[in-house]
Amino acid sequence: MNDFSEKGDSTPGTLIDPSNRILDYLRVSITDRCNLNCTYCLPLSGQTKQDHHHILRYEEILRLIRIFRDLGISKIRITGGEPLIRKGVLPFIAKLHQIKGIKDLAMTTNGLLLLNHLDEIRSAGIRRLNISLDSLNPETYRRITGHDVFQTVWEGILAAEKMGFHPIKINVVALRGINDHELTEMAKLSLAHPFHIRFIEYMPIGDSALHSENPLFAQEIQEQIESLGKLYPVDREKTDGPARRFRFQQAKGEIGFISPISRHFCNTCNRLRLTADGSLRTCLLSDLQTDLKTPLRSGFSDRQITGLIREAIRLKPTSHNLNTGHPAVISGRMSSIGG
Ligand code: SAM
Repeated sequence: MNDFSEKGDSTPGTLIDPSNRILDYLRVSITDRCNLNCTYCLPLSGQTKQDHHHILRYEEILRLIRIFRDLGISKIRITGGEPLIRKGVLPFIAKLHQIKGIKDLAMTTNGLLLLNHLDEIRSAGIRRLNISLDSLNPETYRRITGHDVFQTVWEGILAAEKMGFHPIKINVVALRGINDHELTEMAKLSLAHPFHIRFIEYMPIGDSALHSENPLFAQEIQEQIESLGKLYPVDREKTDGPARRFRFQQAKGEIGFISPISRHFCNTCNRLRLTADGSLRTCLLSDLQTDLKTPLRSGFSDRQITGLIREAIRLKPTSHNLNTGHPAVISGRMSSIGG
């Protein structure tokens, strides 16, 4: 029988979907606003910001996270938009850090505001940072992000390394004709720094300003990077995400390949996403979503909201339907969904 309430609810505090995947990871986008305009992320029309009242308040997010925690979520990532531009984000994260049962708390940021906030980020309870950096060339960086701020981001990354944040994962979206000529340079960073350099396939999400006719897939990226030397596989750990991990001999850091399109990892997907405006998305690459904000604001009890979450999970797609042969476009916006 494929009924979630029987199948998934057998162990209290363990969330299992109808495809038998344990869901323990919630990515929370706390704002759809960003201080960069990355071509592959933001819509062609530019940033359209939602009014504040459409965005979940911190206390609403905390309530939802407690409900998710009771269901079995133990790992939270704060993302956006750019999380560090939302006022009050660090006191909010500190409160989140106090929630019992949340064992892993991380943040994804573009790094632009890191330099001045590292102390506070650490005191709020974040140890693990994912930082987006698509180029080491200031001009290419400006071309991708629309802002001439490479140096500030780079200094922020180095300062985070110095302060002992670990691991620092550097997210690089591989874009043909834009940064493909410097992917090996980026991979080389893993020789001298303990960074995990993760190459991510471009995903056609939302009406983004970038339309890649001939996207760069992980295999080609890997072949390019292996021109530097042999890559040795790194053993997977239980808490590993979707990256296939490797290391150059003697390297301080690692290389990862994230291939949502060419070699999807849907069968091990353990994720849920809460959008900035309070919808639950059970698959990044599907438009299916459940509004939690309206029920939250209309006085639904925790139990009723739990019911809505369970119903959404019952419908979590087994697999996304994008693949190398059938490109499609997802209409949700990455800046609101959070990557
Ligand atoms: N502002 C933060 C940042 O830049 O890291 C967090 C939000 S951003 C939406 C989260 C991640 O999604 C980033 O690593 C970004 O590179 C990735 N991303 C955004 N659009 C993407 C796309 N179309 N394909 C692949 N990755 C994408």
